[in-house]
Amino acid sequence: MKILCIGRNYIDHAKELNNPVPATPVFFGKAENAILQNGKAFYYPNFSKDIHYETEIVVKINRLGKNIETQFANRYYEEIGIGIDFTARDLQNIAKKKGLPWEIAKAFDGSAPLGDFLPKSEFSDIKNINFSLDINGKTVQKGNTADMIFDIDYIISYLSQFYTLKIGDLIFTGTPVGVGPIKIGDKMIAKIEDKVLLEIDVK
Ligand code: ZN
Repeated sequence: MKILCIGRNYIDHAKELNNPVPATPVFFGKAENAILQNGKAFYYPNFSKDIHYETEIVVKINRLGKNIETQFANRYYEEIGIGIDFTARDLQNIAKKKGLPWEIAKAFDGSAPLGDFLPKSEFSDIKNINFSLDINGKTVQKGNTADMIFDIDYIISYLSQFYTLKIGDLIFTGTPVGVGPIKIGDKMIAKIEDKVLLEIDVK
């Protein structure tokens, strides 16, 4: 199982981090150690002083595929969920400055909290899904899949040129504007529409 994550997939988020809007998807990977599930707490790591949340729609691959055409990509997933792409922004900024890979800032233990999934059939339009993150009762991030630069089917098609997609693989589809830091004691709740699918305590 692998986790592939899209970066800079919402124009306003690319701008908030002073990144160019990409012409092709930017992506990176995380491994299984990153997954945090079943209500487990996130322990603030001692190697960073600036862990940020990035709330993202997550797609679970349910068929083996390679070189998938965009028009057929919707056959490769049945479930949609929500996750957080925790990012050590301080380490990422150093890596970016030096032109180094981002793994140190992106793929650490617990960096991919994952909520419950919903069947695709629950959505009338995959390109119009609202999602949000609350911290300590206050909404800090809100997104809609309509604002993606590259939509889910295109992302699947694009990634499958480089990676054989396998059953259970997860794709984090990028974060909307409004990323920010977490701190010990925070209680995070992520929703798709009005359904709470993920709860994390930061310890
Ligand atoms: Zn992200």
